[in-house]
Amino acid sequence: MLASRSATRLSTRFVCSQCRAFSSSRRTLAEAQAAEIKKLGVVGAGQMGLGIALVASRMAQVPVTIVDNSQKSLDKGLAFADKLLAKDVSKSRLTQSDADSTRSRLTTTTSMDDLGDVDMIIEAVPEIVSLKQSIFAQLAQVAPSHAVLATNTSSISITLIARATTTDPTDLSAASRVISTHFMNPVPVQKGVEIISGLQTSPETLATALAFCTRMGKIPSVSADSPGFLANRILMPYINEAIICLETGVGAEKDIDDIMKNGTNVPMGPLALADFIGLDTCLSIMEVLHQQLGDSKYRPAVRLRNMVAAGWVGKKVGRGFYTY
Ligand code: NAD
Repeated sequence: MLASRSATRLSTRFVCSQCRAFSSSRRTLAEAQAAEIKKLGVVGAGQMGLGIALVASRMAQVPVTIVDNSQKSLDKGLAFADKLLAKDVSKSRLTQSDADSTRSRLTTTTSMDDLGDVDMIIEAVPEIVSLKQSIFAQLAQVAPSHAVLATNTSSISITLIARATTTDPTDLSAASRVISTHFMNPVPVQKGVEIISGLQTSPETLATALAFCTRMGKIPSVSADSPGFLANRILMPYINEAIICLETGVGAEKDIDDIMKNGTNVPMGPLALADFIGLDTCLSIMEVLHQQLGDSKYRPAVRLRNMVAAGWVGKKVGRGFYTY
């Protein structure tokens, strides 16, 4: 018995050391295949796109071209970047000179044609399938032929987004460069990023995305191209259930948030977190989970639909489950 136990222990150790050797050789291979990103493009200057642009400029020290079809969003985004940088300087987390150089690397435009000289583009427009598809069809035309085309989608299939780059499904020239870099909110604070390959994504694209996110100071987790990936497959049903508890009178807003904050040691309760993410984004993700996994347990809460119908989509508009 003892002998067989120690044999099990030995074989476990053997397998684990093999795993380590495998993953470190895979890492080395990935590093060798990774292309260097010298200039980044970001499409969408909302809370995610702006955060990605700012962290890329600050940590990876690359120039970033930010594209948005709304000049108002671009102005609001840059004002927010200035505020974040000033806060970091005032708290001695950043020198004034580093803040100035971070800011000087950010340029804004309303034209996608200005993305012709970048090595990687990260798209962060709203979570609408047809919108992402039309953006990727355009990126395949305007981006250089080597550029990595990444999406920050929270739930939409990467394979489907990559398919929009061409009318010919056997043409992988652009589709093999499509990948997801799913940053967590707020990007300057959260270390995690999910990296998801579609069926068409090449190993070089994966290696480049992993290397660049690491340069941005993030800790990547790799996930399969499955609805909601890892983070939202777990997080959104939790938020949705909290909203169902509210609409069915199981608890009031504050009680729901307080028990999760004080009982599970999370910094924000689920309703405050939903407001922070944006209720429109939460609804879109629940719809993707519901439609694509076909299980009624993912049905979006009626209250969530109504809040979005009312336009009370959370912190970004000043009203959600709470008033800001
Ligand atoms: P947002 O609404 O704050 O910003 C979207 C921006 O895209 C806006 O500035 C809008 O003007 C711009 N835009 C719309 N159409 C455009 C077009 N055709 N061309 C260029 N710009 C256009 O949204 P967000 O919260 O930053 O989310 C963006 C993406 O990131 C979504 O896919 C979302 O699912 C994902 N995401 C969001 C969170 C979150 O917590 N909010 C977290 C992770 C991922």
